[in-house]
Amino acid sequence: MSSPHARIDEKVHIGPKELVMVLTGAGISAESGIPTFRDENGLWQGFRFEEVASIQAWHKHPHLVWMFYSMRRDAALQCGPNSGHFALVELERKLGDRFFLCTQNVDDLHEQAGSKRLVHMHGELFKSRCDRCSKPPFEDKRLYETADSIPNCQCGGRIRPHIVWFGESPFYMNRILTELDRCSLFICIGTSGAVQPAASFVRWARQRKIESLAPVRTIYIGPDEPENGWYFDHFYQGKAGEVLPELFRVE
Ligand code: NAD
Ligand code: ZN
Repeated sequence: MSSPHARIDEKVHIGPKELVMVLTGAGISAESGIPTFRDENGLWQGFRFEEVASIQAWHKHPHLVWMFYSMRRDAALQCGPNSGHFALVELERKLGDRFFLCTQNVDDLHEQAGSKRLVHMHGELFKSRCDRCSKPPFEDKRLYETADSIPNCQCGGRIRPHIVWFGESPFYMNRILTELDRCSLFICIGTSGAVQPAASFVRWARQRKIESLAPVRTIYIGPDEPENGWYFDHFYQGKAGEVLPELFRVE
């Protein structure tokens, strides 16, 4: 079943008491030049994900894993935010604490644009951490391109990317569930609806049973209908950078 298409010039009205949760995926960074998952037939810049984005891969060939993330760091360093990212900053400026952004992206383009109230559920490309002890992650823009360039922590563990790999648990789930439970508008942008648990967020928001709250409104923005498309009330078909700047009317 397909989701109802909205006219692209139909504004989304946001009332004075509304709470807005936004979920973004790789699509919002596509116009900045960062390839999505789908761009390359399920390959990430030539790599199969199991080879580079799992804990098994890390144990088997940490050097290859770091080559991949070094390449992504290098590529992301050349990119800046686009008008889609800026439109969300503008929305946050108008809504203040009534705005919450959850991104599946590991790039820092939302921060570069100026977003403040955001969490990275799948980790951050420009942070690293120890693979053994619980020292907090640290800012890291370095590239580790040779086998002997991977540093060790003081505890003897190895420094790994601060990324949620397949089979690992996403970050900030308590906060995300709280926001899903109380938002009145759920906006999803540029995500294929194939990666769990993010793909279920729209369903969870719709299924919540808090009687004092009106049912949540759900909208999707992107060029293709996502796999979970029929959970959305409205589908704005187009590129994030073109649709978002004119989409919202905050009352
Ligand atoms: P995905 O690659 O599976 O899907 C991308 C989606 O973006 C598609 O549905 C596509 O239609 C849409 N899209 C393409 N161009 C768009 C545009 N201009 N505007 C709006 N939408 C556009 O990505 P996903 O659903 O986010 O899931 C894949 C996983 O890949 C996530 O876990 C994410 O962490 C990771 N990833 C992140 C980045 C990044 O950090 N920028 C890039 C690639 C993959
Ligand atoms: Zn350590």
